[in-house]
Amino acid sequence: MTGTPVRLDLSSPSRGPRGKPPKHFVDLTPEQRIDAVTELGEKPFRAKQLATHYFTHLSNDPATMTDLPKATRDKLVEGLFPRLLTAHKTMTADNGTTVKTLWHLFDGAKVESVLMRYKNRTTLCISSQAGCGLACAFCATGQMGLTRNLSTAEIVEQVRAAGRMLADGEVPGGPTRLTNVVFMGMGEPLANYKSVMETVRRLVAPTPDGLGMSARNITVSTVGMVPAMNKLAGEGIPVTLALSLHAPDDELRSELVPVNTRWSVAEAIDSAHRYFVATGRRVSIEYAMMRDINDQAWRADLLGELLNQRGRGWVHCNPIPLNPVPGSKWTASDPQVEQEFVARLRAHGIPTTVRDTRGSEIDGACGQLAAEEDE
Ligand code: SAH
Repeated sequence: MTGTPVRLDLSSPSRGPRGKPPKHFVDLTPEQRIDAVTELGEKPFRAKQLATHYFTHLSNDPATMTDLPKATRDKLVEGLFPRLLTAHKTMTADNGTTVKTLWHLFDGAKVESVLMRYKNRTTLCISSQAGCGLACAFCATGQMGLTRNLSTAEIVEQVRAAGRMLADGEVPGGPTRLTNVVFMGMGEPLANYKSVMETVRRLVAPTPDGLGMSARNITVSTVGMVPAMNKLAGEGIPVTLALSLHAPDDELRSELVPVNTRWSVAEAIDSAHRYFVATGRRVSIEYAMMRDINDQAWRADLLGELLNQRGRGWVHCNPIPLNPVPGSKWTASDPQVEQEFVARLRAHGIPTTVRDTRGSEIDGACGQLAAEEDE
């Protein structure tokens, strides 16, 4: 701990009366799904049929569930698949290969997800909270405050919807599958630990119990909530962990990422290293490059030293050109300064790749998600 401790309320809504999302099939474990189906007066095997429609065929539409009698499917879908997400608006960029969706939740809360198609993979950036309580100075979501945590099903529904879109060939390049999921949309995933972990379980469970994704293709990005990072290391699910560091010194980091006054740079890096030791997964360090703020060569050197103090080969750096947020005094680093920063990190032996800024013109890039409606 360094500096003055801040009091962060990570659990309760900061504005607006908000309800609890209705329970959904996806919130339930496979055993609970069987119970739920029998409680509605149907045979246990119907649970597996529903799971196959949802997780294998990415459908929650009773019209497609033709292996169930019509009355049965209508009853089960009505009882177990409440509509959680309504697509209010979609925006595309990069010739249609980046798609941002603004979702309205059942209570009017709003979140966004961003689907990006690359040559050999497809990545969906999902939201785990409506708004965010961590107030990082340079992040649009951070300026909104926290509305509420999303439920497991509200998060998984973003993934199902994207998978459906890709399967239906709605993204140029022909029908395909979703390969990667990153918790880099709105919210701090580790501040909604339980629902996020349940989401990860649904994503990696083999079909038809879950989506059958590979844990290594799922990235959980955190501002550095150390106890939750330590807990994640013990879950036995080797997701990729990304730590949003943005500065190697406490003085600056506490300004940019207020939670640093609670868990310092050293504590966050130690915890990230523990995650590597526990899981064997190389950790990503995210670093939004802000002109004349955190992009000095000496900070690159300091970062390289701090990372190497813990060991070699355990970490990868991901500088991100700052995506400007309206009203913010910060801008992206000069490209030459960025290059020098990257070169210094590499000289320290740290593998470093600059993150692309896909979707920035539709406010769909890192740190730009604010779920604002302009009509
Ligand atoms: N709360 C999590 C995940 C959300 S954002 C976290 O902080 O890691 C995903 C990444 O985008 C984080 O590294 C975040 O720091 C970064 N980011 C936020 N605002 C940004 C901006 N304006 N430009 C570039 N990256 C930004």
